[in-house]
Amino acid sequence: EFAEVSIKDIDQVAKSSFPLCMRHLFEKLIEDHHLKHGGRMQLGLFLKGVGLKLDDALAFWKAEFSQKVGAERFDKEYAYSIRHNYGREGKRTDYTPYSCQKIISSTPGVGDHHGCPYRHFSCVSGYDSEENLRAALSRMGVNSGAMENVMDKVRNRHYQLACTLTFESIHGSSFDAGINHPNQYFSDSQKFFK
Ligand code: SF4
Repeated sequence: EFAEVSIKDIDQVAKSSFPLCMRHLFEKLIEDHHLKHGGRMQLGLFLKGVGLKLDDALAFWKAEFSQKVGAERFDKEYAYSIRHNYGREGKRTDYTPYSCQKIISSTPGVGDHHGCPYRHFSCVSGYDSEENLRAALSRMGVNSGAMENVMDKVRNRHYQLACTLTFESIHGSSFDAGINHPNQYFSDSQKFFK
């Protein structure tokens, strides 16, 4: 089980401990005050996995979305699916956060920000370029030596290894297990800072 993260900590833990896929969604949400369905699912379930409670999740999404669509439309069109993710609507299934494998095999289209940046930034034509991936990695604090190793893994389609090398570069430590889940990346990173 993951520790509880409250709404006031999100900005800080996003910077310190979110893997690139979630940082990208988080930044786009703050920038656009909106995410399309695939992004809301991927980030929303991840946040649930890091321990964001339903009330905080609703407040968090509402604070962003209402700047774009208004509070009333948020309540009408978007709040339901957040409660649904938490198993409070519909069949009351308690949905689990997506694994790397599921995220890597997703197929984001134009205007989508979900998916795995190691795969989708550089390989989907007309989506984003290798330059964007390098820029994002350097914003995360990956140094230039590690960068080439990461890009090498990306070119060989070893996306989870690229993510593992990113983790190692940022945290300045080697890592026994490979990354296979964004919430695993998060919890291992949090342990590192404790
Ligand atoms: Fe996210 Fe997994 Fe891709 Fe890392 S390898 S960016 S955790 S989907």
